[in-house]
Amino acid sequence: MSVYSIARQEWAESIFKVSTEYAIYAPVEKFKTVDYELVTAENVSEIAYNGQLPVLPLKAFFFPVKENVGQEPVADKRIIIGVRNCDLMALKLLDAVFLDEEFLDIHYQSRRENTILIGNDCYAIKETCHCTVYGLEPYPQENMDITISPVGEVLYLSVATPKGATLLTKLNMTGLREESELPESVQRKRAVIREKLKNQHKELPGLEETKAGLLKTDASFWQEYAQKCVSCGACAMICPTCHCFLLIDRQNFEKVKNWDTCQYPSFEKVAAGEDPLRRLSKRLKNRYECKYIHKPEMFNALACTGCGRCIDACIGKIDKNQIIIAACKKD
Ligand code: SF4
Ligand code: SF4
Repeated sequence: MSVYSIARQEWAESIFKVSTEYAIYAPVEKFKTVDYELVTAENVSEIAYNGQLPVLPLKAFFFPVKENVGQEPVADKRIIIGVRNCDLMALKLLDAVFLDEEFLDIHYQSRRENTILIGNDCYAIKETCHCTVYGLEPYPQENMDITISPVGEVLYLSVATPKGATLLTKLNMTGLREESELPESVQRKRAVIREKLKNQHKELPGLEETKAGLLKTDASFWQEYAQKCVSCGACAMICPTCHCFLLIDRQNFEKVKNWDTCQYPSFEKVAAGEDPLRRLSKRLKNRYECKYIHKPEMFNALACTGCGRCIDACIGKIDKNQIIIAACKKD
């Protein structure tokens, strides 16, 4: 991986120059939350390189909430800046599902091919971030074209793919300097954040223990937690790995693909009226088993990357991690 350094100011000016060719999205902080916005001349200097995880999961850029898949894919060229490792690693599962040769989703494929992903080291972690529990690092590991590691007014750029290298050439930045490696200061920052993450979720079991704990649970365990769940589906909608959808046929050959979730009533209802997930407690249990047992077995990919968004979003104040801890303590 080649490493370069550039002043924050020059990077901002240069990246904006390609905004006629690419739609550029980047995290911007507003009212104490960080979310992706389209980069314009007004907000290009406000990109939150050191901010928290954006609210919107990366999946929304490739798998929109609603789209007509009955038409040819529209391949807009995009650059997404500031993507965190939990979202990048979630693409492993989404790619396995939507790029499967037998059931290829050409809309997803076209968006993946036409998007340049610029990852970012995590410095401002949330209390609910727990990626390290599942073996992830708080900096981009896979699926990024370039990684930005900010240190003061300097951005270190690690180029991971030919797509990333082509973009840097195109930006033609006069102050771009090739470095032999990432500086010690970046490595130190990464180590500090890794330790902080490990300490804030010391009691949370890893993947294998979680799987074993969930297999021990019975109906009464889930009934207790289900009392606080209102089936709003927010936990799944906000999750970077949840990818269930419903296809609806409309007039004029429109086939609309909508986000769906096992947390909604009738998710598994079939023509004869049978519904294996009719009970709310079964739907809740299904989500956990899907994440920690079924999806890793089927796709050899994590279905929880520890972003903590489902905990932040739950209107019933259900803490996924507390459920896992309780399941693992069960006799
Ligand atoms: S299950 Fe929760 S913590 Fe895990 S990836 Fe999904 S939203 Fe993030
Ligand atoms: S966000 Fe909370 S209340 Fe809503 S479906 Fe998920 S667990 Fe239930």
